[in-house]
Amino acid sequence: TTFEGLGLTDWLVRACRELGMKRPTPVQQGCVPQILAGKDVFGLAQTGSGKTAAFALPILQRLAENPYGVFALVLTPTRELAFQINDQFKALGAEVNLRSTVVVGGMDMTEQAKALMQRPHVVISTPGRLRDHLMNDPGIPAVFARAKFLVLDEADRLMDVGFESELRAVFEGMPSDRQTLLFSATMTSNLQALHDVSLDKAFFYQA
Ligand code: AMP
Repeated sequence: TTFEGLGLTDWLVRACRELGMKRPTPVQQGCVPQILAGKDVFGLAQTGSGKTAAFALPILQRLAENPYGVFALVLTPTRELAFQINDQFKALGAEVNLRSTVVVGGMDMTEQAKALMQRPHVVISTPGRLRDHLMNDPGIPAVFARAKFLVLDEADRLMDVGFESELRAVFEGMPSDRQTLLFSATMTSNLQALHDVSLDKAFFYQA
C-alpha cells in the first residue's frame, strides 16, 4: 500500500516522502481512508505506531480544502506529547502554511488566549488548561464553534490521569457535527466513561 492508495492528495504524499515516510504503517492504512470518508474512528494503537500521522494526514487534507480556524482540536495527556504532535502537524503541513498552537499548563494564559483568538487551524492541548480557557474567558468558546475534528490522543492515559470532568467540559464546547477520533494504547474500562463522545458508530481499528 502507498500513501496515494489511502486517498491522500499529492502534496501530502510529497510531504510524507520528504519526511522519510516510505509507506504507511498499519494504523495509517487502517484509519486514514476511514477518516477521509468522514467516519469517527476508535483506534487501538501504541506510541511509535505512526498514530499521530494517522490522524494528522487526513485532517490536513480536509483542512486544505477549506481552511479556516479552529479546524481541529487535539487533546493529549502531557505537555511533551502536545509539543511532539505539534511538530508533526507543522512538518506535514508546512506546504499549506499550517497555523497551529499548543495550549498546555505551566505557560502564560494571556498569551495562550491571544493565540487562540487568532484562530489557528489546529489547537493541541492538555484538557485541564483548555477547560480553564473555556470557562474563564467568555471569548474562547466561540473559537471552537466551527471545529470539524476532535482528537483524543492516548485516551486511556487521559482517563487515568483523571481528566474526565475536564473532557466533559471540552466536549460540551465542541460542535456536535464534528468528527471524533480516539486513539488509545489499551482498551480500559475507563474508556467507557467516554460513551458520551458518541463513538458507538465509529470505525474500530485494532492491529
Ligand atoms: P507516533 O506513533 O505517532 O508517535 O509516531 C512515531 C514516529 O514514527 C514518529 O517520529 C513519526 O514521524 C514516524 N512515522 C510515522 N509514520 C511513519 C511512516 N509511515 N514511515 C516511517 N515513519 C513514520
